Amino acid sequence: MELMFATGNAGKLREAQEICDVLGKKYGVQVTVRPMPEKVDIPETGSTYEENSLQKAQYVWNRWHCDCIADDSGLEVEALDGAPGIYTARYCDRDFASGIDKLLFELDRLGADTPDKRRGSFECCITLIQGGKPHFFRGHCPGTIHSEKCGVAGFGFDPVFIADSTPGLCMAQLDEEKKNIVSHRGLAMEEMFRYLAADDKKQ
Ligand code: IMP
Repeated sequence: MELMFATGNAGKLREAQEICDVLGKKYGVQVTVRPMPEKVDIPETGSTYEENSLQKAQYVWNRWHCDCIADDSGLEVEALDGAPGIYTARYCDRDFASGIDKLLFELDRLGADTPDKRRGSFECCITLIQGGKPHFFRGHCPGTIHSEKCGVAGFGFDPVFIADSTPGLCMAQLDEEKKNIVSHRGLAMEEMFRYLAADDKKQ
């Protein structure tokens, strides 16, 4: 099946297709994600990942009337009471590097000098709209914020995030295949494939 992906981020689109290729084989469901036919900045004004990803997917459905997916994600840091959370994209006001610097500075200022004081998680909600009906899938990737940047792969906060499932390695040090298995986005996509595979059997 073909799903339009409500994102203007080419990196996210590529990552989503790679995940679909791997999970498609595992669950026996072929999914191709395609970009929106034109670049649009869809507003994100919700107060949860669900609301924001629904807003993006709904935009595509209303405008192009095709089955689609959207994701909304963020980094939640315990020492910051869950911030930046759904505001993670805005936290990186200039670019990803400035967002990372701000986060490391904040944690230093709070004296969070051991891994247990630097706990956090990546969160993701994927909304799938099929035939106009929305379905939600969540992914949660717990870990710690490393005190220095390591690795060059991925994007966003990958250089300072160590997932519990890959100890000793920041996400930016993982190859794409590995990141896609452990990441919040990969886990949310896996939930979606479980749903699609079960739905396929019903028909
Ligand atoms: P949004 O989902 O487009 O609103 O973006 C959320 C923000 O969270 C991004 O701009 C990144 O800063 C961060 N983020 C989301 N997913 C990832 C990831 O897989 N790795 C690193 N940072 C991420």
